[in-house]
Amino acid sequence: MTKYSLLIGGTRVDTSAYADVRNPSTGEVVGQMPLAIQGDLDRAVAAAKTAFREWSRTSEEERKAACLAIAERIAANDEELARLLTLEQGKPMGGLGSRFEIGGAIAWTQHTAELSLPVEILQDNGDGRVELHRKPIGVVGSITPWNWPVMIACWHIIPAIRTGNTVVIKPSPLTPLSTIRLVEIINEVLPAGVVNVVTGDDSIGAALSAHPGVAKMTFTGSTETGKKVMASAVATLKRLTLELGGNDAGIVLPDADPARIAEGLFWGAFINNGQTCAALKRLYVHDSIYEAVCQALSDYAAKIPVGDGLDETSVLGPVQNEIQFNKVRELVDDARARGGRILTGGAPMDRPGYFYPVTLVADVADGVRLVDDEQFGPALPIIRYTDIDEVIARANANPAGLGGSVWSADPQRARHYALQLECGSVWINKHGAIQPNAPFGGVKQSGIGVEFGAEGLKEFTTIQTVLI
Ligand code: NAD
Repeated sequence: MTKYSLLIGGTRVDTSAYADVRNPSTGEVVGQMPLAIQGDLDRAVAAAKTAFREWSRTSEEERKAACLAIAERIAANDEELARLLTLEQGKPMGGLGSRFEIGGAIAWTQHTAELSLPVEILQDNGDGRVELHRKPIGVVGSITPWNWPVMIACWHIIPAIRTGNTVVIKPSPLTPLSTIRLVEIINEVLPAGVVNVVTGDDSIGAALSAHPGVAKMTFTGSTETGKKVMASAVATLKRLTLELGGNDAGIVLPDADPARIAEGLFWGAFINNGQTCAALKRLYVHDSIYEAVCQALSDYAAKIPVGDGLDETSVLGPVQNEIQFNKVRELVDDARARGGRILTGGAPMDRPGYFYPVTLVADVADGVRLVDDEQFGPALPIIRYTDIDEVIARANANPAGLGGSVWSADPQRARHYALQLECGSVWINKHGAIQPNAPFGGVKQSGIGVEFGAEGLKEFTTIQTVLI
């Protein structure tokens, strides 16, 4: 059984204790995760701090070249990374699964490498000259979730190092191995200590977010944990980027064509088995086409094979872990008990592993937990509405504000309503289609700050104005 190591200051570090990481399709052990203790974390932060002295002084060109070289190294190891990701996360190799995720990690790394934040001249006249410089912050602590671990690790690490910071990353204990391997690959390119990885249970995440040597935290995970990270930041006034939970609404206007939008709705909701921050989690459909949309979605769902991620015919895999599996089961059972009509799925699959089928639940309304809570799994509530202004208000009543979508034959009409949604990203006739040049982040309780593009890069800098 492969025992993985921490990577601190460019050196593999063993720990005194390890934990098994299991494949959610089979329950088999994939590898062993090192359990870091406070001393390991202190050494990782110290290594990142030492590396910061040199790395923060490297030129834009050097850092761009390093990021492009990292993209090349990831690409050279793509199949190995994809397989490890499937083994620990569960997602299929093909489709919108592991190869897609590694491809995304490469694409984001390349795009971010090419970005830059040149000095801005705010004033240059007889009264003087004012320059705005963007400087790296210091050691960045990164904490990632288990749903898209490799891609999200790149969303944290690459903009941080591109702007001259150094990093200590702590992946989810449920999917740590692909991140360890990613950091090993990144260390083939970078000087020792620029990117370090520590793994362990949630307490090591809490220790990282409270660490006095960390100048900024970038966190992706649940809103509940994000609030704890924010509280930990107080003592040293750490800078924060928080990408938190969502409960994205999709609103189908009466002029939409159910057959044409079914595929987009399906993948908006069920990408990665619904375990995606900006997945469509509440679908509001106008009464006049409600049954037609339910039918079109059910027809599409019937064509999707669910199975072990290593089986190349699988299009969706298992739910990643037991807690999430039980949550989906409970929310669907509750919705059924409260009058929900199960169109497809509705009970765990009869096989080992955390397999729950694609589940569509009609005739539910706001106030039912499956609608109000973030299900983060393969179960979509479909809610009927008649009045568009009222449904916008219902969509906005949720404390989350990550993404949203409007579906219509008339994109301008859709845009009119899209602008009324309280969320960081809104899509028209698609959902969750993030791209590296479009800043992405949540409003309300879905987070603070954005990732991607120049706006995302700025989050890893502090401003220094020079007044001459
Ligand atoms: P989680 O909050 O349980 O865990 C996220 C990470 O935080 C893990 O690495 C965990 O070990 C760590 N952690 C746990 N307790 C901690 C503490 N007290 N202090 C510091 N770190 C701690 O989230 P999850 O279940 O891994 O991920 C699912 C959630 O992430 C969903 O809510 C989803 O919407 C959200 N998410 C958001 C985005 C986004 O970009 N907005 C992207 C992906 C996932």
